[in-house]
Amino acid sequence: MIKLPEQAIIVLNELEKNGYEAYLVGGFVRDLILSRETHDIDCATNALPDEIERVFSNFKQSQIGKDHGTIGVKIKHDWIEITTYRFDDETKDHRRPKSVTYAPSLKEDVIRRDFTINALAINQKGEIIDYVNGQEDIKQRIIRCVGNPEYRFYEDALRILRGIRFACQLNFEIERNTLEAMHKQSYLLNALAVERIYQEFKLMLESDSIYPYFNNTKDILSVFIPEILDLDSQLLMKIDQCNTWLKRFSLFFIHQNEEKIRIRANHLKIPKKLIKDSVDFYYCYNHEYNDQEIDIKRMMQVYPKTIILESMELKKIIDPEHYSEVSYQLLLKMIQDNVVVSIKDLNINGHDLLNMNIKGKAIQETLNACLEAVMLNKVENTKEALIQWVNLT
Ligand code: ATP
Ligand code: MG
Repeated sequence: MIKLPEQAIIVLNELEKNGYEAYLVGGFVRDLILSRETHDIDCATNALPDEIERVFSNFKQSQIGKDHGTIGVKIKHDWIEITTYRFDDETKDHRRPKSVTYAPSLKEDVIRRDFTINALAINQKGEIIDYVNGQEDIKQRIIRCVGNPEYRFYEDALRILRGIRFACQLNFEIERNTLEAMHKQSYLLNALAVERIYQEFKLMLESDSIYPYFNNTKDILSVFIPEILDLDSQLLMKIDQCNTWLKRFSLFFIHQNEEKIRIRANHLKIPKKLIKDSVDFYYCYNHEYNDQEIDIKRMMQVYPKTIILESMELKKIIDPEHYSEVSYQLLLKMIQDNVVVSIKDLNINGHDLLNMNIKGKAIQETLNACLEAVMLNKVENTKEALIQWVNLT
């Protein structure tokens, strides 16, 4: 029997004690069966929102989702979402249900869900209720739509991306009919809000095993990231070896150009910081290193060191012939030694120069000259050495 966390038992117990049915549902149950770390707990009940509010009147509540039948209840340190059984009515623009109608029983609530693995329920005793053969699909590691896949994707095209995302995250196979419908209905993705697309794409890129799924769904993903069609399989295959989001995202653009990165990133509404990182990454990746310290220092003056480092790591993965271990080690050492690459790292400042009777524009010029001398190892970065060097030049 599966053991439920204490907060979950409290929720189910409170509802049952007051004469209602209550089950934990959705991703929480899936992850529990898979022994994955579980987060957000979802509970389904025949209690109506007003009744849920009444049952949990002694707990902190959130009414944000009340229009959709959901009341958030804080139990111990967790927010648990309690939702009245419902059907999702006809959708508008293949996105969200137009309206919500409450359903008479758990079964209706379960079969509106996207995939069989997400359509399981569990009761207070830890017994699983399975109307869709979801347990078997979890065992066989299969992503399969509940009901007719073409129709389910027509209702809500985000399910196409959720399906690919779950396959990547769980390393599950997408069932044949479900996959066929994904290909056939991929044009519906054009109707989705890009924020929702990006959210799913990000989760895909954060998964362990991407290549087999991306390779099989290139035509689908190309609806929002057409650059995937320019990546040959050999290159795409390396994506699983990339250990960060930035390397994975950058892989799509490494043979493109800055403008294309900006266009795509703006189109996907990627956060500004990530756009900058991606552009920096592109230039760092395409820099030709000559194994000289000063070359790397000049790069460090312009680009964040972690991005230089990561871009070198990507080169090692996808273009080892042009990767330089010497430059990589030099960079690591310089990062460790906190090497001087900017005026603020110098152990001399404007006040010191004023005291030496250097004034006006000459202050900045002298600081620049000091920086250059330190970077070229012509003088040590100590106040005495720098003062002496300034006096001599
Ligand atoms: P995650 O681990 O990412 O939270 P999840 O399966 O819990 O995955 P949620 O978005 O938290 O996903 O949704 C909770 C549950 O609601 C799902 O397990 C599924 O049963 C149902 N659900 C969510 N989105 C959809 C959708 N677009 N269509 C149908 N059912 C959905
Ligand atoms: Mg969830």
